[in-house]
Amino acid sequence: MAARAPPDEDGDECLRQYRHLFSPDLLAGQVAFITGGGSGIGFRIAEIFMRHGCRTVIASRNLERLSEASKKLVAATGQQCLPLSIDVRQPQTIVAAVDEALKEFKKIDILINGAAGNFLCPASALSFNAFKTVMDIDTIGTFNTSKVLFEKYFRDHGGVIVNITATLSYRGQALQVHAGAAKAAIDAMTRHLAVEWGPNNIRVNSLAPGPITGTEGFRRLGGKFAENSNLFDVIPLQRPGNKTEIAHSSLYLASPLSSYVTGTTLVVDGGSWLTSANSFSALLGIASSSAKL
Ligand code: NAP
Repeated sequence: MAARAPPDEDGDECLRQYRHLFSPDLLAGQVAFITGGGSGIGFRIAEIFMRHGCRTVIASRNLERLSEASKKLVAATGQQCLPLSIDVRQPQTIVAAVDEALKEFKKIDILINGAAGNFLCPASALSFNAFKTVMDIDTIGTFNTSKVLFEKYFRDHGGVIVNITATLSYRGQALQVHAGAAKAAIDAMTRHLAVEWGPNNIRVNSLAPGPITGTEGFRRLGGKFAENSNLFDVIPLQRPGNKTEIAHSSLYLASPLSSYVTGTTLVVDGGSWLTSANSFSALLGIASSSAKL
């Protein structure tokens, strides 16, 4: 079935079964640096890349969680995975991590910018600092990491960048001015960097997921509440997506399958942004219900 979801696991666990749709050696010999790779969508991207022959660096703030994740990923795939602590808001931490990754693997071919923070909040209740923090992590963090990778490796060797964004700004999603603005700026950055860095053999694309089960984002944005109130019935494909589906689309964008694709955004949302309700009162209900979780 064209639109049936592949199997997935809810928490940050590796897949119990996996059937390759692409060639298992699609990323053989490559190295991917994945921010936010210790949890949620980033964790599954790391797993699926490793199942296609890639070695990975997973990088975020919580080294303990990253180390646990790395053990699971290595056990499930037999590939190498290096967990490294970074805060994408602090360029020197990224520089140190990229140096360590290059020492270990001698190369980096792929950068996935997945680190982000989000929550539901009306603009009127959002503090100045909350708005700034989301911009700092999502937008500035994506720029910081891309720039460090460019200077340390991609400028001379080429590379692929995939920025994980969102569809929130397409219709001005209520309670999401901070994340919507931050992700829209990343989509703009994708086009700017694709233009400037194309001559260096660097491709830059965005991937915008819809609602994805088994993630912190889904839980915080009221996933269970939304499921129970049949909010997903209005999505053209009638369901939320899962992490493996996002990982498969990332694999396409990171691999030579998309060798002539740059400066674009791949929306992976089952058609959700076209039809889903953007109701202020319903979202306020979700916000207050998810705040209790
Ligand atoms: P998640 O598990 O919370 O992923 C966010 C990751 O970012 C975490 O691993 C976190 O790790 C890392 N991070 C946060 N702040 C950081 C910082 N300052 N420096 C470095 N790393 C930082 O949530 P997710 O739902 O899987 O989201 C993954 C990506 O998909 C995000 O870009 C999100 O916006 C996007 N997305 C998700 C959905 C969805 O339905 N879940 C929908 C649309 C878009 P540490 O805490 O260890 O730092």
